[in-house]
Amino acid sequence: MSGFIVDIPECPSLADYEAVAHLAPSVDRLRARAGSVVDRLRGRTVWMVSSTAQGGGVAEMLPTMVTLMNELAIDTRWFVIETDQQPFFHLTKGIHNLIHGAGDPQVVAGDARDVYEAVNADNATTLMSHMKDGDILVAHDPQPMGLAGPLRKDLDIHTVWRCHIGLDEENDATRAAWRFLEPYGDDYEQSVFSADEYVPDSFRDRSRLIYPSIDPLSDKNRELHLHSVVGILSNAALSVPPGPVVQPPFAHIAERLQADGLWAPAVLPADIGLLIRPIVTQISRWDRLKGWLPLMQGFVELKERFFSPRRNDRSAIERRRLNQVRLVMAGPDPSSIQDDPEGLEVIEELRAAYVDLDDEMKHDIVMIALPMENRSNNALMVNALQRSSTVVVQNSLREGFGLTITEAMWKRIPVLSNTRAVGPRQQIEHACDGWLVDDPEDPSQIAEALDYLLNDRAERAALARTAQRRAHNQFMIFSQLRSWFDLLEDLVA
Ligand code: UDP
Repeated sequence: MSGFIVDIPECPSLADYEAVAHLAPSVDRLRARAGSVVDRLRGRTVWMVSSTAQGGGVAEMLPTMVTLMNELAIDTRWFVIETDQQPFFHLTKGIHNLIHGAGDPQVVAGDARDVYEAVNADNATTLMSHMKDGDILVAHDPQPMGLAGPLRKDLDIHTVWRCHIGLDEENDATRAAWRFLEPYGDDYEQSVFSADEYVPDSFRDRSRLIYPSIDPLSDKNRELHLHSVVGILSNAALSVPPGPVVQPPFAHIAERLQADGLWAPAVLPADIGLLIRPIVTQISRWDRLKGWLPLMQGFVELKERFFSPRRNDRSAIERRRLNQVRLVMAGPDPSSIQDDPEGLEVIEELRAAYVDLDDEMKHDIVMIALPMENRSNNALMVNALQRSSTVVVQNSLREGFGLTITEAMWKRIPVLSNTRAVGPRQQIEHACDGWLVDDPEDPSQIAEALDYLLNDRAERAALARTAQRRAHNQFMIFSQLRSWFDLLEDLVA
């Protein structure tokens, strides 16, 4: 077992993007930019290499990228490394954690190098039978980083390492990871990171910044007509259908945490009000670093402090808005994350906090488990939920690049996040294309920001408008490809 070329699943073509009026100029710019790169890369193949064909951001992004590059006449293929050596996965998961500053540095000690190099050498042999002189290797993340060394022994190729992870501080764990990876990194001419803060010293002199991007035609992001939003929410049991719905319910529906701490279909005990109430939404993995608990506490404070009968400084509309607003906290269904003990722990913590709320608050705070069995339906649920939101929150304490932030910006939903996390800081300019608090762990700051955003419709609209433009210009697949073209052109020049 040592690697295979992936059959790319069907993706939208450039003509599909071009058919959308407001995407057409981006496609034109992409085509124009591709011209000189195509000439320079003629006769070469770009090899995207990753460790899995399914699951995770890299596998999500590569099909669209590879499809569009080929359509633009840049021969591009996707190779996935394989092994049946379990210690390799144990090691690379350990390296992943270390780069995030967590875990035991001992994971890269002992025979770790032998394991890592043997699997990479094995896969390099397979890949070498497909590659030729002049080709370009783009290895994604640490797992296939060890390919460049063996490949370059026999082939005259160009090499780029794309790192999708990082931490904006150094500790023993991160130092151990980068020390382990450094000799393999030496075989790369260029590296690509998602944030400047993530670049380790060993790559400083040859690194570029390329933002992750979203695909505006994917199920997660494509435009949904009003009827589709209502239909999806109804099919998913996120909304009580206001009348007969053409499509049958989804095979797997969303569930809501009930007052007794058990899960039941999300239309119980009563309709959430997604189609009529002001809604504040966070959709994320159940990760402590996503700041769930302080968000919940901030929302409680919003209701208690700002919607208090003692306050008579509010207009009738503002009072009704604060009375009606609900917080939706949605993440993957617990049964889909049985291999993620920390995620299950976070759900337990939130469940405990939820059952302690008073009855009224239990109606206003809605914890949702989204089914993951059907990825397309899951994406449509996320899309419809984001489009039903008045404000989208991403209260992450740490975040490399928050895709949920881009997703909301693209949909013209105002985003509330914070300046502590690297990603939000570079994705959002405060008071320009979103709103940033300083401390995601301070419920008062969250409450005040929500009060401000909910009650200032003009500000929300202005932020969202600018946000969509920013997402359009910087965080779409087209701008990402243009950045890659700059890099590839320089590489072979
Ligand atoms: N997401 C999803 N279903 C869920 C929870 C999250 O599809 O139940 C998606 C979310 O829309 C986003 C991605 O998972 O596209 C999370 O990416 P992000 O960069 O926000 O955070 P990460 O999970 O990579 O830390």
